[in-house]
Amino acid sequence: MPMPIGHTLSGIALLYAGAPSWRQSRWIVAAVIFFSLLPDFDLLVGLVVAGDANAYHHQASHSLLFVIAAGLLGGAVAARRGRYTGLFIAAGVIHLVLDILAVDTSAPYGAPLLWPFWNGYFQSPLQIFTDVHRSGVRGEFFASLINRHNFEALLIEIAVMMPFFLVIYLSRHAKMNARKGSA
Ligand SMILES: [Zn+2]
Repeated sequence: MPMPIGHTLSGIALLYAGAPSWRQSRWIVAAVIFFSLLPDFDLLVGLVVAGDANAYHHQASHSLLFVIAAGLLGGAVAARRGRYTGLFIAAGVIHLVLDILAVDTSAPYGAPLLWPFWNGYFQSPLQIFTDVHRSGVRGEFFASLINRHNFEALLIEIAVMMPFFLVIYLSRHAKMNARKGSA
Protein backbone atom coordinates (compact mmCIF):
# COMPACT_ATOMS: atom_id res chain seq x y z
CA MET A 1 0.00 0.00 0.00
CA PRO A 2 1.19 3.50 -0.68
CA MET A 3 1.19 5.81 2.33
CA PRO A 4 -1.48 8.45 2.97
CA ILE A 5 0.70 11.04 1.22
CA GLY A 6 0.63 9.01 -2.04
CA HIS A 7 -3.14 8.60 -1.85
CA THR A 8 -3.61 12.29 -0.99
CA LEU A 9 -1.46 13.32 -3.97
CA SER A 10 -3.54 11.07 -6.24
CA GLY A 11 -6.69 12.86 -5.05
CA ILE A 12 -5.13 16.25 -5.68
CA ALA A 13 -4.00 15.11 -9.18
CA LEU A 14 -7.58 14.00 -9.88
CA LEU A 15 -8.88 17.42 -8.81
CA TYR A 16 -6.35 19.20 -11.03
CA ALA A 17 -7.18 16.99 -14.02
CA GLY A 18 -10.85 17.95 -13.76
CA ALA A 19 -13.09 21.00 -13.80
CA PRO A 20 -11.79 24.22 -12.14
CA SER A 21 -15.03 24.35 -10.09
CA TRP A 22 -13.91 21.21 -8.24
CA ARG A 23 -10.84 22.96 -6.89
CA GLN A 24 -12.66 26.14 -5.96
CA SER A 25 -14.75 24.36 -3.37
CA ARG A 26 -12.86 23.52 -0.18
CA TRP A 27 -15.62 21.07 0.59
CA ILE A 28 -15.09 19.15 -2.66
CA VAL A 29 -11.29 19.16 -2.20
CA ALA A 30 -11.70 17.73 1.33
CA ALA A 31 -14.24 15.15 0.11
CA VAL A 32 -12.01 13.94 -2.76
CA ILE A 33 -9.02 13.56 -0.42
CA PHE A 34 -11.30 11.72 2.03
CA PHE A 35 -12.44 9.26 -0.65
CA SER A 36 -8.82 8.84 -1.82
CA LEU A 37 -7.92 7.70 1.71
CA LEU A 38 -11.14 5.96 2.75
CA PRO A 39 -10.21 2.31 2.03
CA ASP A 40 -7.28 2.59 4.47
CA PHE A 41 -9.59 3.57 7.32
CA ASP A 42 -9.65 -0.22 7.80
CA LEU A 43 -6.32 0.28 9.63
CA LEU A 44 -7.97 2.61 12.17
CA VAL A 45 -10.95 0.28 12.56
CA GLY A 46 -8.54 -2.58 13.28
CA LEU A 47 -6.61 -0.48 15.81
CA VAL A 48 -9.75 0.61 17.66
CA VAL A 49 -11.78 -2.61 17.50
CA ALA A 50 -9.12 -5.33 17.63
CA GLY A 51 -5.99 -3.51 18.85
CA ASP A 52 -4.34 -4.63 15.60
CA ALA A 53 -4.12 -2.37 12.55
CA ASN A 54 -3.86 -5.42 10.28
CA ALA A 55 -7.00 -7.13 11.59
CA TYR A 56 -9.20 -5.89 8.72
CA HIS A 57 -6.60 -4.41 6.38
CA HIS A 58 -7.01 -5.05 2.63
CA GLN A 59 -10.36 -6.72 3.09
CA ALA A 60 -13.86 -5.44 2.24
CA SER A 61 -12.86 -1.76 2.11
CA HIS A 62 -10.43 -2.58 -0.70
CA SER A 63 -13.14 -3.87 -3.04
CA LEU A 64 -14.75 -2.10 -6.00
CA LEU A 65 -18.15 -2.66 -4.39
CA PHE A 66 -17.07 -0.71 -1.30
CA VAL A 67 -15.59 2.29 -3.14
CA ILE A 68 -18.58 2.46 -5.54
CA ALA A 69 -21.07 2.25 -2.64
CA ALA A 70 -19.11 4.87 -0.66
CA GLY A 71 -18.97 7.17 -3.71
CA LEU A 72 -22.71 6.76 -4.34
CA LEU A 73 -23.45 7.55 -0.70
CA GLY A 74 -21.10 10.55 -0.72
CA GLY A 75 -22.59 11.80 -4.00
CA ALA A 76 -26.11 11.45 -2.62
CA VAL A 77 -25.39 13.59 0.46
CA ALA A 78 -23.25 16.14 -1.45
CA ALA A 79 -24.61 19.65 -1.95
CA ARG A 80 -25.65 19.03 -5.56
CA ARG A 81 -26.99 15.52 -5.50
CA GLY A 82 -25.27 13.05 -7.78
CA ARG A 83 -23.07 15.65 -9.41
CA TYR A 84 -19.89 14.47 -7.69
CA THR A 85 -20.65 10.76 -7.44
CA GLY A 86 -18.34 9.85 -10.34
CA LEU A 87 -15.54 11.96 -8.88
CA PHE A 88 -15.79 10.29 -5.46
CA ILE A 89 -15.91 6.81 -7.01
CA ALA A 90 -12.89 7.66 -9.20
CA ALA A 91 -10.92 8.73 -6.10
CA GLY A 92 -11.66 5.36 -4.46
CA VAL A 93 -10.89 3.32 -7.60
CA ILE A 94 -7.53 5.12 -7.96
CA HIS A 95 -6.75 4.14 -4.34
CA LEU A 96 -7.28 0.47 -5.24
CA VAL A 97 -5.16 0.78 -8.40
CA LEU A 98 -2.28 2.37 -6.45
CA ASP A 99 -2.50 -0.36 -3.80
CA ILE A 100 -2.23 -3.23 -6.27
CA LEU A 101 0.78 -1.46 -7.81
CA ALA A 102 2.59 -1.63 -4.46
CA VAL A 103 4.76 -4.34 -2.98
CA ASP A 104 2.77 -6.32 -0.42
CA THR A 105 4.81 -8.44 1.97
CA SER A 106 1.99 -9.82 4.09
CA ALA A 107 -0.54 -12.42 2.91
CA PRO A 108 -3.06 -12.22 1.40
CA TYR A 109 -1.18 -10.18 -1.21
CA GLY A 110 -2.94 -7.38 -3.08
CA ALA A 111 -6.57 -6.34 -2.83
CA PRO A 112 -9.87 -8.29 -3.06
CA LEU A 113 -11.25 -6.07 -5.84
CA LEU A 114 -14.24 -8.28 -6.66
CA TRP A 115 -15.29 -9.10 -3.09
CA PRO A 116 -17.92 -10.44 -2.25
CA PHE A 117 -18.46 -11.96 -5.71
CA TRP A 118 -14.98 -13.48 -5.85
CA ASN A 119 -12.70 -13.70 -2.83
CA GLY A 120 -9.40 -13.81 -4.72
CA TYR A 121 -6.83 -11.02 -4.44
CA PHE A 122 -5.46 -8.93 -7.29
CA GLN A 123 -1.82 -7.89 -7.38
CA SER A 124 -0.07 -6.22 -10.29
CA PRO A 125 2.94 -8.10 -11.67
CA LEU A 126 4.57 -4.66 -12.00
CA GLN A 127 5.02 -3.05 -8.58
CA ILE A 128 5.92 0.62 -8.64
CA PHE A 129 5.50 1.48 -4.97
CA THR A 130 7.16 -0.25 -2.06
CA ASP A 131 5.47 -1.50 1.10
CA VAL A 132 5.15 0.34 4.39
CA HIS A 133 7.06 -1.02 7.36
CA ARG A 134 4.92 -0.73 10.47
CA SER A 135 3.73 -2.57 13.52
CA GLY A 136 0.05 -3.48 13.66
CA VAL A 137 -0.02 -3.31 17.45
CA ARG A 138 -1.97 -0.47 19.06
CA GLY A 139 0.48 1.71 20.98
CA GLU A 140 3.31 0.96 18.56
CA PHE A 141 1.55 1.69 15.25
CA PHE A 142 2.19 5.42 14.80
CA ALA A 143 5.75 5.40 16.20
CA SER A 144 6.63 2.38 14.02
CA LEU A 145 5.85 4.36 10.87
CA ILE A 146 8.91 6.55 11.39
CA ASN A 147 11.82 4.69 9.82
CA ARG A 148 14.23 4.96 6.92
CA HIS A 149 12.38 2.47 4.69
CA ASN A 150 9.14 4.44 4.96
CA PHE A 151 10.97 7.70 4.25
CA GLU A 152 12.31 6.14 1.04
CA ALA A 153 8.80 4.82 0.25
CA LEU A 154 7.52 8.37 0.66
CA LEU A 155 10.11 9.72 -1.78
CA ILE A 156 9.12 7.05 -4.34
CA GLU A 157 5.45 8.01 -4.00
CA ILE A 158 6.21 11.69 -4.53
CA ALA A 159 8.54 10.89 -7.47
CA VAL A 160 5.90 8.68 -9.13
CA MET A 161 3.11 11.24 -8.69
CA MET A 162 5.11 14.24 -9.92
CA PRO A 163 5.01 13.31 -13.66
CA PHE A 164 1.18 13.24 -13.45
CA PHE A 165 1.18 16.79 -12.10
CA LEU A 166 3.63 17.82 -14.80
CA VAL A 167 1.47 16.31 -17.58
CA ILE A 168 -1.67 17.97 -16.15
CA TYR A 169 0.15 21.30 -15.80
CA LEU A 170 1.59 21.18 -19.33
CA SER A 171 -1.73 20.17 -20.92
CA ARG A 172 -3.54 23.02 -19.11
CA HIS A 173 -0.83 25.42 -20.19
CA ALA A 174 -1.11 24.22 -23.81
CA LYS A 175 -4.91 24.66 -23.67
CA MET A 176 -4.55 28.21 -22.30
CA ASN A 177 -2.06 29.11 -25.04
CA ALA A 178 -4.37 27.62 -27.69
CA ARG A 179 -7.25 29.75 -26.31
CA LYS A 180 -5.07 32.86 -26.34
CA GLY A 181 -3.96 32.06 -29.89
CA SER A 182 -7.52 31.74 -31.15
CA ALA A 183 -8.74 34.88 -29.29
ZN1 LIG B 1 -5.25 0.90 0.73
